[in-house]
Amino acid sequence: MLKKVLVANRGEIALRVIRACQELEISTVAVYSDADSEALHVRHADEIVHIGPPPATKSYLSVEALLEAAKETGAEAIHPGYGFLAENSRFAAACLDADITFVGPSAESIDKMGNKSMARRIALEADVPVVPGSEGSASVDEAVEMAEEIGYPVMVKAAAGGGGRGIRVAEGEDDLRKAVRVAKQEAESAFGDSSIYLEKFLVGPRHVEIQVIGDKDGNVVHLYERECSMQRRRQKVLEEAPSPGISSEVRREMTEAAVRLAQEVHYTNAGTVEFLVDEDENFYFIEMNTRIQVEHPVTEMLTGVDLVKEQLRVASGESLSFKQEDVLFDGWAMEFRINAEDPEKDFMPSPGEISFLDVPGGPGVRVDSAIFQGYKIPPFYDSMVGKLVIWALTREEAINRARRALREYRLEGIKTTIPLHMRLLEEDAFRSGDYHTGYLEELLTNT
Ligand code: ADP
Ligand code: ADP
Ligand code: MG
Repeated sequence: MLKKVLVANRGEIALRVIRACQELEISTVAVYSDADSEALHVRHADEIVHIGPPPATKSYLSVEALLEAAKETGAEAIHPGYGFLAENSRFAAACLDADITFVGPSAESIDKMGNKSMARRIALEADVPVVPGSEGSASVDEAVEMAEEIGYPVMVKAAAGGGGRGIRVAEGEDDLRKAVRVAKQEAESAFGDSSIYLEKFLVGPRHVEIQVIGDKDGNVVHLYERECSMQRRRQKVLEEAPSPGISSEVRREMTEAAVRLAQEVHYTNAGTVEFLVDEDENFYFIEMNTRIQVEHPVTEMLTGVDLVKEQLRVASGESLSFKQEDVLFDGWAMEFRINAEDPEKDFMPSPGEISFLDVPGGPGVRVDSAIFQGYKIPPFYDSMVGKLVIWALTREEAINRARRALREYRLEGIKTTIPLHMRLLEEDAFRSGDYHTGYLEELLTNT
């Protein structure tokens, strides 16, 4: 097992990784920018290294500063968390060159699956259905030609995209020419890569994803699905598992497809295979996230598997500690993302000082966050400041428990998405489980 791990991240995920390390008796190194000297991940780690000024490009995205910090402290591995450098194959390769274990898949797997357009081709080779669309990236004229074949509406997507960025929908040719230009610009500035591809725009699909994990012996195991259709601006707002929208037959087919795809690229460590599911429960691969995901606790609550510890085990060269037949799921789990945003003001970021905090507890309640009373949320990073995760025996009980826990959650001084979650828990569509990826946007524009 690893002895010392550097956590190349901040916020709740840095704390999550530190906690897993502590339970495995791995010593931890936290890194921090000038904006994070008071942060909890810094307080909980065994050693800390300052890596630069607040802008992420000069701190949490600085490969040089991170590798230097690892060398200086003798950390033998780096866990990248999610976001920042987690899906950066150059970073994974640079770790390898510096003789540091990257807690994630190989640089080669990241390269293959991180480019969405290439991932589509690999999915087809692995006999995994994809949304009808372009093979390879396209210029404006090629996109127009392809859209005629696919049929409008179409979706323009950045091949390097992530976090809901670099995506545009086009209803017709003029629309499309503009969408391609805008998506290319956005992709160039966000990811340094302007290539785009096209997909048929599916109307009102569900987003259902499969958690997988692999080890160096070639074992790949899935840990069932997460339903992630409650979205705003193509970003997940809350997630649950099992999915209320798929049959056990479709679950079996989707999990098999996800494992097949992971095996095709000799995938190691944790990853998520994302699918869209239409009304007739046909499913289509959209992308793979080659990292731990924000919503991983949903799967942990449902299966009892600690995914982050398992990541550390397989990164250290051990085999998976369980087999496919050992992975069972029980009850219902839900995650509510608590963002420092004002739902009343078009979700404008709401950084600032937390003047009062009282977090919920009791049976089936897990709070993953990195905030405390008196903490000042810095304006430089992601607005997600915590996650409330609920487990109960049935979906109905989970909803009632979530409602109770959200009422208990008292967070003052900033605006958060807690009122949005409380509202969603009262909506018929959510309560029945019959909602799709367009549902929340419709609700927000119509009310
Ligand atoms: P999930 O929520 O399913 O884990 P997201 O796509 O929402 O996945 O990404 C999680 C975090 O990572 C978000 O903070 C998002 O902004 C960030 N992120 C995702 N993809 C990228 C990327 N390619 N480059 C930089 N940040 C990213
Ligand atoms: P990101 O890398 O930003 O997470 P994804 O490709 O995973 O991008 O898509 C994000 C979301 O956009 C999906 O969860 C879904 O709601 C929507 N989406 C993606 N592709 C399509 C499509 N072809 N048709 C309809 N909606 C889509
Ligand atoms: Mg996605």
